[in-house]
Amino acid sequence: MREDIARPMANAHTHFNTAPLDPALEQEVKSIVDDLSLTEKVKMLSGHGFFEKFFGDENRQFGQRAYPAGSGNVRHDIPSLYFCDGPRGARHKRNTTCFPVTMARGATWDRELERRVGEAIAIEARALGASISGAVCINLLRHPAWGRAQETYGEDPVHLGEMGAALTEGLQTHNIIATAKHFAVNSIENSRFKVDVRVSERALHEVYLPHFKRVLMSGCASVMSAYNKINGDYCAHSAPLLRNILKEQWGFKGFVHSDWVKGCYGADAVTAGLDVEMPEGIFYGSNLEGAVARGEVDEAHVDEAVTRILRTQFTFSRTDDPRAYSDSDLACAAHTELSRKVAEKSFVLLKNDNLLPLDRNKAQTIAVIGQLADQANLGDRGSSSVNPPYAVTLLDGLKAAAGPDTRIVFDDGSDQNRMLKCAESADVVIAIVGYTWENEGEFIPGNEALEGLDPDKQMPSRGGDRASLTLLPSDEDVIGKLASVNDRLLVGVMSGSAVIMESWRQKPAAIMMTWYPGMEGGNAFASAIFGDVNPEGRLPFSIPVDADHLPFFDAEADEIKYGLYHGYTLLEKSGQQPAYPFGFGLSYTEFTYGDVRQRTGNTLPTFEIDVTNTGDRTGTETIQFYIGFGESLIDRPVKLLRGFEKLTLQPGETRTVTFSVTPQDLAYYDEASRSWQVESVGHTAYIGANSEDAVSRAIRFELEQPVYS
Ligand code: BGC
Repeated sequence: MREDIARPMANAHTHFNTAPLDPALEQEVKSIVDDLSLTEKVKMLSGHGFFEKFFGDENRQFGQRAYPAGSGNVRHDIPSLYFCDGPRGARHKRNTTCFPVTMARGATWDRELERRVGEAIAIEARALGASISGAVCINLLRHPAWGRAQETYGEDPVHLGEMGAALTEGLQTHNIIATAKHFAVNSIENSRFKVDVRVSERALHEVYLPHFKRVLMSGCASVMSAYNKINGDYCAHSAPLLRNILKEQWGFKGFVHSDWVKGCYGADAVTAGLDVEMPEGIFYGSNLEGAVARGEVDEAHVDEAVTRILRTQFTFSRTDDPRAYSDSDLACAAHTELSRKVAEKSFVLLKNDNLLPLDRNKAQTIAVIGQLADQANLGDRGSSSVNPPYAVTLLDGLKAAAGPDTRIVFDDGSDQNRMLKCAESADVVIAIVGYTWENEGEFIPGNEALEGLDPDKQMPSRGGDRASLTLLPSDEDVIGKLASVNDRLLVGVMSGSAVIMESWRQKPAAIMMTWYPGMEGGNAFASAIFGDVNPEGRLPFSIPVDADHLPFFDAEADEIKYGLYHGYTLLEKSGQQPAYPFGFGLSYTEFTYGDVRQRTGNTLPTFEIDVTNTGDRTGTETIQFYIGFGESLIDRPVKLLRGFEKLTLQPGETRTVTFSVTPQDLAYYDEASRSWQVESVGHTAYIGANSEDAVSRAIRFELEQPVYS
């Protein structure tokens, strides 16, 4: 591993939103703002050149380059910022590293690894001339049908915030401005341009915003507003969201830009707190200038937006780079190796009845079944898609890693009789099932987004929310048939979020979530199958037994209500057992937990636990810390994740993990006082391997005196 991305680096921007403003910088920015004409200022608030290029020499291919975000100022020698998409790599027409999708990275629960992914994406983005990255997608996975589920880390705000903060820190280490998106309550794809998400202040603060706040407190210097509406206003026009919460309550010092093309609907957005309209000044530009001239928009808001852009731009551009950036960084060996490592740590083993790992040196035949095994299945083809120089399929990875006496045979499943013969005569069967970009992904609306355009310039729609939460009927049928001819069957599931497995999960000997595993996915998969690495991925969401156990979801909704409960909090509240709980994943070794101990009985206690590797292989466990609210006097979740730590243990090794409670861990958002409150009741600390397992290791505690967050 190359040194410069292997070691943690101090991030100069960690305190961007929390440190006091620099008076000298503010003065310098003010003198520039004072000198700019209204036309110049408004130009800085608007992207430019997108349509000209897109419909010109880029032949309607999105993501060919970094796009100007705002327009800079020639007179003051201030360049535009340049935006490059993420989150599975730096998006460009050039070849760049394709990492496993964000959900796979969520399954690693590995902050340090994610920080390194952020660094690698930033290094490549810098080599491509970008200055701002859209890689930090941290919308909460409210429902697995969400088409863009793969672009986020999972269903839990604490886990999401930790992983998003790690990515942000990595990105910003290289003076790339990270954009946290899509702010906020963006988790339905097909209706994203119109849906009005109705959400109480409490659900907003407790469920849908904590991860944004965590990421911003790690220094994230930019925010992208979401397409959807929140409580009646488009997010880009929501003063409660952008001005009151983000800028006033949280003290965010950077700038907010809109999502692309249908992300802003009028000049009044600047009053609400939208600083930049992307990718063109349709409602900003001359329209905003007119609105200011007519007195409809206060020029002070324009000045504030310019101030935010310049403050951010100057801070980042004047911080010394830790290294130089060049073409040779694009998809370089250090980054592709990192992509492989991430994939290896992301696979979640859901079931393993003595099948895995396989011995690569045995004389055996492994039948690999299903066309997805032979396909570069890297994820959706929306804004997150990247263009790697190569991609190792699962089949190619297995072939390359198998020992000389292991024969790998492949059948794409197109002829069932042939496929079953192949499976029947094999020693082991690996069936790869699941989805592709055609079943789930970003909804690219074609005509709808660009209405009024010359018909020659219009495009068909693609992507969107998943039509079903189960596998395709053909996949379920194949699993049943394969299991009936060979009981040594592993089912590998490629998808971006939960798949309901009730009709078949009892049938195969083993099940593994492989996600969309990135350009090195096949090599990583083979390492896990042959036991070179020990699976350590843990589910970043719950897998229910029935779609009825999920919150209401409507891909075409005009209006929808988001409440306090979804995922494991909803399952626990309604007393439903999941098929696989949040945080679940098996290993090739066994971990044994001791009892939870309370270390201090003071106002804020600390809990610790011993974890031992009682198996015969080195393995990595993710220890999860939950706090329970069973004694609460108000409606609260049964319990909530409040911390997690990863431990790598040798066989026989025991280590102790410690978790500290903060006031915020206990607090709920009180709508009457618009503040966080802690109840004077007993709470319960739970520690375990997943949300269900933790219940068996509980310790009740009381605070000796009230605490306030
Ligand atoms: C997506 C964003 C993306 C932007 C620019 C939008 O359609 O929602 O996530 O960053 O396009 O590609």
